[in-house]
Formats: sequence, C-alpha cells, structure tokens
Amino acid sequence: MHRDPDCIFCKIVSGEVPSFKLFEDEATFAFMDINPANEGHALVIPKEHTPDLYAAPDEVLARTVVTAKRVATALTRTLNPDGLNLIQCNGAAAAQSVMHFHIHVLPRITDDALAMNWGLKLGDIDAIGRLAERIRVWI
Ligand code: 5GP
Ligand code: ZN
Repeated sequence: MHRDPDCIFCKIVSGEVPSFKLFEDEATFAFMDINPANEGHALVIPKEHTPDLYAAPDEVLARTVVTAKRVATALTRTLNPDGLNLIQCNGAAAAQSVMHFHIHVLPRITDDALAMNWGLKLGDIDAIGRLAERIRVWI
C-alpha cells in the first residue's frame, strides 16, 4: 500500500501520530478532527496515500464514501444534529490543507452560520476523546 512518509494522515493511519480513531477496515480509516468546525467533526480517509479526488482510484473513492456513510450514521445516532455535510476539498483555493484525500463528516446545527472555508481552531482534546468513545458505540 502506497504511503507518503511526510504525510500527517499516513502517519495517523500507521499510528505514528495519535488520533481518536472511530473505525477502520482494510481500505479506510475514520477519526475525529482535532480542529472541529462543529461538535462531532470527523474525517474519513483511504489508508493508501492519494492526494485528491482526481488521483484517487474509483474503488478507493467508493470504499471511502461507504465508510463516510457509516460514520455519518453513528454521529447522527450520537448527537442527533439538525443536518450533516459530507465535504471534500481539492486544492488550496478550496481550502484543502492536507494533501491526502479525505471526506469531512460535519454535523450541522440550524443557523450555525458555518462558512465554507472555516478557519482551523484547535478543539478541546479531552472532550473530543470522550465524544469519540460515544460515537464508537454506534459504529
Ligand atoms: P482540509 O482543510 O485539507 O480539507 O482538511 C484537513 C483537516 O485535517 C482539517 O480539518 C484539520 O483540522 C485536520 N487535521 C490536520 N492535522 C490533523 C491532525 O494531526 N489530527 C487530526 N485529527 N486532524 C488533523
Ligand atoms: Zn498520506
């Protein structure tokens, strides 16, 4: 499986960098975002390093979307948000900051006024860890 030794998400998959893991299978990995735009913000990635939508093989895309659905369902059971976005960014202008394909699973609250290019703000790490435990129950 191709991995980039300088990629933060490849390091998360290998365990070199810690994460609050929600789920993994042979092809995909899901974990909490440490700069949550909203409570419950999670990321789903293919284990194989692939920079963006254009580079990702169809089979990898399909597996990643299926895992995103699984995480979205667990998040919804845990937090009962008003809505939920799957968001995927390609290129700096589209606010892609990590060049390893990923899908944001982002719970939404009515009138939360979340902008498309939300800024990165470190969350409460203990609270994120506790929430990950609650979501994992539903995965
Ligand atoms: P992008 O802006 O590329 O679409 O999203 C990258 C996401 O990765 C951001 O939401 C950012 O908070 C998240 N992120 C970046 N570095 C780390 C990390 O080391 N751990 C975790 N859990 N998330 C990260
Ligand atoms: Zn990578």
